[in-house]
Amino acid sequence: MKLLLLGPPGAGKGTQAHRLMARYAIPQLATGDMLRKEVADGSDLGRTACEIMERGDLVGDDLIVDMIAGRIDQQDCRNGFILDGFPRSPAQAEALDTMLSTRSSALDRVIEIGVDDDILVGRITGRFTCRACGAGYHDVFRKPAESGVCDFCGSRGFDRRADDNEETVRSRLAVYHRQTAPLLPYYASRGILVTVDGMAAIDVVTEQILAALPAPSRIDSGDGRLLQ
Ligand code: ADP
Ligand code: ADP
Ligand code: ZN
Repeated sequence: MKLLLLGPPGAGKGTQAHRLMARYAIPQLATGDMLRKEVADGSDLGRTACEIMERGDLVGDDLIVDMIAGRIDQQDCRNGFILDGFPRSPAQAEALDTMLSTRSSALDRVIEIGVDDDILVGRITGRFTCRACGAGYHDVFRKPAESGVCDFCGSRGFDRRADDNEETVRSRLAVYHRQTAPLLPYYASRGILVTVDGMAAIDVVTEQILAALPAPSRIDSGDGRLLQ
């Protein structure tokens, strides 16, 4: 299954992608995470992207498209993938279509996670993630069961993103409305867009998404088995 999660910063794309990944045995391809790794590694791409990300603007389409094109042919994507944060502009959406059609493939479903702007600033400024396993948390909405300890891996190290401050969030939201929201009618016209209420509780959002997707048992594992 080839799935795209679309929504403004803080909508819950990463949170939901982590849950769907385990269920469908397909990886999350998050361009923001991939870019932050390039920045941490100090690569040429990372040096170019760093300043743009701190401002909350979009990194150039060509750089992002090359990064994704190199990723979707890897072995772990053979059953599909969950795109999180890509495409983010009409040019990226067209490049993705071309990339998939040359592989005789296409997106199966686009899930829009809808959340009002005034909620998003609070979501983003309270966000933190486990440094070891990437699990996402929130100071108020999603605290670890034991304070300072990751529920999933027991690690005690957490990160907050440099761009998760109020000023940058406001420019990221403006960029979302200007450059990314035009993709919604594009996918709606193809009949593959489903909108869920991202303001509901995390578990309820997951249920809404699962209701819009084929059951995991129908997904081919790639080796003749059907995944349960
Ligand atoms: P969020 O999940 O909060 O929306 P991301 O982690 O997806 O944020 O992205 C962080 C930053 O990385 C963006 O503000 C942008 O600068 C850059 N970025 C991520 N994905 C893309 C993309 N597809 N195109 C251009 N820039 C991107
Ligand atoms: P995105 O990947 O779309 O930028 P995240 O999944 O990182 O968003 O979620 C942003 C923040 O909001 C995180 O701190 C997360 O724990 C929290 N969050 C996600 N979904 C919900 C929800 N439905 N209700 C309340 N908080 C949520
Ligand atoms: Zn962890």
